[in-house]
Amino acid sequence: MSPIDANLQAVRRRISEALQGDSRAITLVAVSKSQPPEAIRAAFAAGCRDFGESYVQEALPKMAALADLEARWHYIGRLQGNKARDVAERFDWVHAVDRARIAGALSRARPESRAALDVCIQVNISGEAAKGGVAPEEALDLARAVAALPRLRLRGLMGMARFTDRPEESRAQFALLRRTKERLAAAGVELDTLSMGMSGDFPSALAEGATLVRIGTAIFGARDGARAAA
Ligand SMILES: *Cc1c(COP(=O)(O)O)cnc(C)c1O
Repeated sequence: MSPIDANLQAVRRRISEALQGDSRAITLVAVSKSQPPEAIRAAFAAGCRDFGESYVQEALPKMAALADLEARWHYIGRLQGNKARDVAERFDWVHAVDRARIAGALSRARPESRAALDVCIQVNISGEAAKGGVAPEEALDLARAVAALPRLRLRGLMGMARFTDRPEESRAQFALLRRTKERLAAAGVELDTLSMGMSGDFPSALAEGATLVRIGTAIFGARDGARAAA
């Protein structure tokens, strides 16, 4: 068994433990930023179908080299206006929409030949300026703006918890994202996705209702230092 196979088995086991018998479907996005195409092929062979990338320039050549795989590509990085076209043309999902302007650019650039682009709105649940995302109380207005765009399909909310080794601290932040989704539902904006949880905190995210987890190092091993923080 390859290390990636073994890591994936362990991650899947921890996911089912965290669900505690709840049968809801979980999408596992294997975060492959800084990983070479061979590692992505190994994860695909082990059953992964969803891959997450954070840097457009790094991702596009890898995606081209892997075009033979029936993979879904998730753009999980910060969105820059000058990259919106590449992202809208090539990716299946975008997780970090945080302003109406970029949502409009994505919608305009999404090719008619493809299905509407699946998007999540990033909400800042940790209070850290470096994390990006709208404040929880701004999520409804942005959700309404995104939902009105013809070439986007608003799926959910995405959040990142503060880096900590105290699970109850991450859990409180994930609870804030869950409550934000519930408030949107009460206002008539129904979403099916809560994109939250990374290698260090996914059990807490699942305990608070995550439907999609974004996991890199627990599957692929450590990234090289330069990009690990992003
Ligand atoms: C890098 C990254 C991840 C995965 O992080 P790991 O700790 O390696 O699991 C998840 N989400 C986002 C937005 C990321 O940038």
